[in-house]
Amino acid sequence: MSDNALFYLTGGNMPLVSHAEGIYLWDTEGRRYIDGCSGAITCNVGHNHPAVKQAMIDQLDWVAFSYRTQFESQVALDLANRLVDLSAGDLEKVFFVGSGSEAVESAMKLACQYFVAQGQPERSRFVSLSPSYHGSTLGALGLTGYEPLEAPYRQITLGSIKVPSPDLYRHEEDSVEAHITAVLEETEAAILEAGPETIAAIALEPVGGASTGGRMVTQEYMEGLRSLCDRYGCLLIMDEVLTGMGRTGTWFAYQHFGIAPDILALAKGLGSGYYPVAAMMAREELVDVVNSSGGFMHGHTYAGNPLACATGLAVIKVIDTEQLLGNAVEMGTYLRSHLDQLAEKYSCIGDVRGLGLLQGVELVQDKTSKTPFPAEFNAFEKLTRLARERGLLIYPRRSLNGIKGDHVLITPPLTVTASDIDDIIALLDQSLDAFEQLVSGEGS
Ligand code: PMP
Repeated sequence: MSDNALFYLTGGNMPLVSHAEGIYLWDTEGRRYIDGCSGAITCNVGHNHPAVKQAMIDQLDWVAFSYRTQFESQVALDLANRLVDLSAGDLEKVFFVGSGSEAVESAMKLACQYFVAQGQPERSRFVSLSPSYHGSTLGALGLTGYEPLEAPYRQITLGSIKVPSPDLYRHEEDSVEAHITAVLEETEAAILEAGPETIAAIALEPVGGASTGGRMVTQEYMEGLRSLCDRYGCLLIMDEVLTGMGRTGTWFAYQHFGIAPDILALAKGLGSGYYPVAAMMAREELVDVVNSSGGFMHGHTYAGNPLACATGLAVIKVIDTEQLLGNAVEMGTYLRSHLDQLAEKYSCIGDVRGLGLLQGVELVQDKTSKTPFPAEFNAFEKLTRLARERGLLIYPRRSLNGIKGDHVLITPPLTVTASDIDDIIALLDQSLDAFEQLVSGEGS
């Protein structure tokens, strides 16, 4: 009998997880690890949270599953209404799904069905950024701006019109302002070239997650994208699968920029690792148009599942009662100041960027020229391994499209304290020291 029938790549020599509590996980050998990345930037309220567990148990006592063609469920209604409140009414309708990819896929379908119902079926193309990550299902993968992921499916993905994502670290223009102007001009040119009447939506991650290691946008960029959408009659889709639910210090990252999307995709932090619950949120007008022409033709068996929705409601309550948005701002600033200090100390750190408790560190071979490590050196994997060996979990990503530096994300649960951050930084400091020794050929 096989001793490892799992299909996915685990990276090799992984410890087996035993249990978890708060910001810590333990392996089956009894070693403790600080979760410096909330798993996959998901476990926002920390592990084994009593209130979330209790809410799930309570819901199991009532009903774990019902199907929406037979019943509506009060927890689904409550969660949908609560999410609308959190958007301060910017987005008035909620459609539940089970993963980030499904949320993005649903957003794309709603955009297409909206334009079909408006008599504009030719508006079926999407504009998205490169690099970016929007999911693994074929529609969401088509939006994804990451060449190696999309390449095997080029014949069957929808694809999208790729435009450059702002790069505040490596841009070629003289200033950030000039770079943003150039990126917006390129985006507009791509829309004009494709024909504005064919564009359904522009999709983006407001702060890059795993795709770009925390790359930031600017206020001018966000306003510029919003006005491009308004000028050319297409929709703005915000992929907040990773940034949503308080990660950057507001419920949704778009709220930092004073503009609103037409559709939003939400996942990871909503279930906070306890249960797969995700949502697509949309402006009411879109939903009304689609409903008046037969309704949204899309759905999943587990959509609006009571146990999933009870989990989401409990997570929101924890974020509220423990004031985790404020903590994400405060601890995000504290974490950032320490990461900036590490960047001064270590020549392998080219850039530190991000918002709130979503902080990315880009690794470079040469700081002055910003030269990345060779892809085959797998710098991201080496640093992640060195950190794990020292009891710290960070989120690794390889160089994007082969041209940018490797990066790691430091994204602890929103419950993190200043002393937890001191521990994370101390372990990261040791790991970077070992990494630089390894780079200079002295370490292993
Ligand atoms: N969009 C973004 C921005 C993501 O970070 C992810 C997951 N990393 C997805 C979509 C896809 O989510 P899921 O893995 O839950 O399908």
